[in-house]
Amino acid sequence: MRRTVLSLLATAAMGLSAPALAQGQPSQPAAAQPAAEPDRPQLVLAVSIDQLSADLFAQYREHFTGGFARLLSGAVFPSGFQSHAATETCPGHSTILTGAHPARNGIIANNWFNPSIARAEKKIYCSEDLSDPASTPNNPVVSAGLLKVPTLGELMKAASPATRNVAVSAKDRAVVMMGGHKIDAGYWWKGNAFTTFKGRELAPAAQRANAAAAALLAKGAPALKAPLWCGPRDRAVAIGNSSVGTYRFPLPKGAKPDVLRVSPRMDVATADLAIGLVDELKLGQGPATDILSVSLSANDYIGHALGTEGVEMCIQMNELDGTLGRLFAALDKRNIDYLVVLTADHGGHDAPERLRQQAMPGATRADKALMPAALGAEIGRRTGITAPQGPLIYGDGPFGDMYVNAAVTGDAKARVVNELVNLTRNHPQVAAVFTAAELAATPMPAGNPQDWTIKERARVSFMAERSGDVIVLLNRAVTPIPEPVPGAFVATHGSVWDYDRRVPMLFWRKGMTGFEQPNPVETVDIAPTLAAAIGLKVDDGAFDGRCLDLDAGTGNTCERTK
Ligand code: ZN
Repeated sequence: MRRTVLSLLATAAMGLSAPALAQGQPSQPAAAQPAAEPDRPQLVLAVSIDQLSADLFAQYREHFTGGFARLLSGAVFPSGFQSHAATETCPGHSTILTGAHPARNGIIANNWFNPSIARAEKKIYCSEDLSDPASTPNNPVVSAGLLKVPTLGELMKAASPATRNVAVSAKDRAVVMMGGHKIDAGYWWKGNAFTTFKGRELAPAAQRANAAAAALLAKGAPALKAPLWCGPRDRAVAIGNSSVGTYRFPLPKGAKPDVLRVSPRMDVATADLAIGLVDELKLGQGPATDILSVSLSANDYIGHALGTEGVEMCIQMNELDGTLGRLFAALDKRNIDYLVVLTADHGGHDAPERLRQQAMPGATRADKALMPAALGAEIGRRTGITAPQGPLIYGDGPFGDMYVNAAVTGDAKARVVNELVNLTRNHPQVAAVFTAAELAATPMPAGNPQDWTIKERARVSFMAERSGDVIVLLNRAVTPIPEPVPGAFVATHGSVWDYDRRVPMLFWRKGMTGFEQPNPVETVDIAPTLAAAIGLKVDDGAFDGRCLDLDAGTGNTCERTK
């Protein structure tokens, strides 16, 4: 690497210097001298592509010529695992830079419930400030208060206070979970503009990003081009009275901000803001290694609104490749020596209407009878137990964590839990149902995450104080959206199946020799891998994952801190 060569030259020159000769020592070959300090990159760039499944990466990697092509010349782990069952955005982002599973970092879902909490709304959003009375789950005061472990950026700051820890995304939860509690600058999109933490000013770079977004919305932009290789996917698939599969992201003059948000243009705006912050804060140009987290959300918005196998996702893959190239080129131009990791918070799966046409006849949508309100009503009919206030069963959808109303206690609660388990376990769309007690008694799994049982997958996103009384997990290819809204919400993730758990993990730094390692690794391995690569010493037991050696040959990047 460039810096290594320079430091070797400097050391060689010192070897010939007068003091060494005066002491009568022969000059040593430079390589035999102990290195004064590890060869640290100036910047860690952690990129998360929301909903980038290993399947999408495999499907499109042959077409990449931009940023992805560069990453493909580095260390390529095509089978990274978000090992846990709760394959959602908040838990997924929480593993990437903490090196901890949700069972330990506390982020068990995007939303969970505390039926005993004093406020009327029993739902809790993963990145809200529960201590602020102004916060609600749907309009949160954004904070990392619920994250129970530090992020890599925080550990870097503790070791060298000059380190800057910066995070940007379209989603507040991605910023918070990658940046953590001590973020020097953090920006996310809200409504029609980038915003930041309560009580903080918008930096000039964010003001410029907002002005650019407003100008783009006012002026409009033409539809995006589909590369020739998107051809076979350019086909309408009916969903209800509408269809998906042929949309090209035109931005009409004066369009609503959501038209921009659910398009590859959201990623461009986010990446441009990141570049603006690099300049404003001189990231990668200070005395300590800085860390910049960039979570690009458009992929997820497009997957949800339009599915994963139409022309829309094909266009997105092409545009994303270009946006990543633009981000890397900006860092190159500033001569910053950066180590980049790219991964995803979870995978994804297509809309069942298209899956059924394409060799998966069993693909279906979840039964409305599995919605918490319907389950609560049925349990009420069967047991005669009702809650004096609020629903009998709380939950965030037709699967996942389900909670019994706090007014129902003792024997009555046991009967409700029992009935909930029976009802769901006997449902043909349900793969497994576990009670909190069953999961609490399950040991943390070790070994290959591909081979874990469903119960073990559920165990790593279970935390007694936050998880449901009952956890319901659906069969493969059951989409937990009973009633789709084409253009807004037709497909999703969140299951225990590998289409939602498996994500790529790619590392690259200038000058490195690339390799491909197809064996399964985990996203909790990323933080220990980066820590070792930048020479950061971390206490034993801080991470659930292991360091991945990024040296293709006999060297070992995991031994720098030993
Ligand atoms: Zn996500």
